[in-house]
Amino acid sequence: MESSVEADFEVHDARFAALLPPGARVEKLTTGTSWAEGPVYRPDSACLLWSDVRNNRMLRWSEDRGTTVFREPSDFSNGNTLDLEGRLVTCEHGRRRVSRTEADGTVVTVVDNYRGRRLNSPNDVVVRSDGAIWFTDPPYGILSNDEGYQAESELGANYVFRFDPVSGELDIVADDFHMPNGIAFSPDERTLYVSDTGASHSPGAPCHIRAFDVAGGRRLTGSRVFADFAPGRADGFRIDTNGNLYAGFNTGEGVQVYSPQGERIGRIRIPEPASNCAFGGPRGNRLFITASTSLYSVFLNTTAATRPS
Ligand code: MG
Repeated sequence: MESSVEADFEVHDARFAALLPPGARVEKLTTGTSWAEGPVYRPDSACLLWSDVRNNRMLRWSEDRGTTVFREPSDFSNGNTLDLEGRLVTCEHGRRRVSRTEADGTVVTVVDNYRGRRLNSPNDVVVRSDGAIWFTDPPYGILSNDEGYQAESELGANYVFRFDPVSGELDIVADDFHMPNGIAFSPDERTLYVSDTGASHSPGAPCHIRAFDVAGGRRLTGSRVFADFAPGRADGFRIDTNGNLYAGFNTGEGVQVYSPQGERIGRIRIPEPASNCAFGGPRGNRLFITASTSLYSVFLNTTAATRPS
């Protein structure tokens, strides 16, 4: 199986080689999307959900049933995650909100404005172990009618937000991104990572992932560049139990894998622009990768970071 490893992976470090089980390979699971984003695995129904952003729908893939439509229209959904109760939390460009899907299937608004001004178009989201919802709010869904509805920004800026579902408070936690996009916590939740894809519309804007210290569970301090990859752009990313970061590059570099120290240790080759990834499967060791027209997966010797208890 040497050849398939060489075909599907670039190994830059022994730590990445150790993540690849014998015979590891990238598998294409399904195709037919226009812009695949926002994968999330639901253990309760053993399926992967993801957004087909430009086709305004969400899809569902499972080993036994293959691909079906989960929600259509989806209000141009993008990033997805699960909250502490396993409920689906979704970023929607169309309604410019973060929504939650209740157990009975009802979709409710979690948050859609900051002090009376509408959000731009929430892009990606994670839920911390205290239940707070952290999300990015770049303007991709309002720049044109391609993946939302063209409109002016009411905020005039692109923030990273923290929403407390108990108090209802929405706080700006970062205000100096061009276009904040991917977001994820380290396994101990003491570090938050956020990518900037502003170079998609502003040549020369940063192409990096920044790391922050999370102070008191609600503020960000100590901003630093975790990985710089200009002119590439890392869209979304997820983190494994050892703190390695797996970033989907919508500029064609596949999934780049970084150590917790920010060293690039390997690459998973994907034959089209990748956007995001999510761990799942019955044993949690399958990395699902959304990439433009298709959904891919690869089994790894690792699993998703789980929230601290
Ligand atoms: Mg994104």
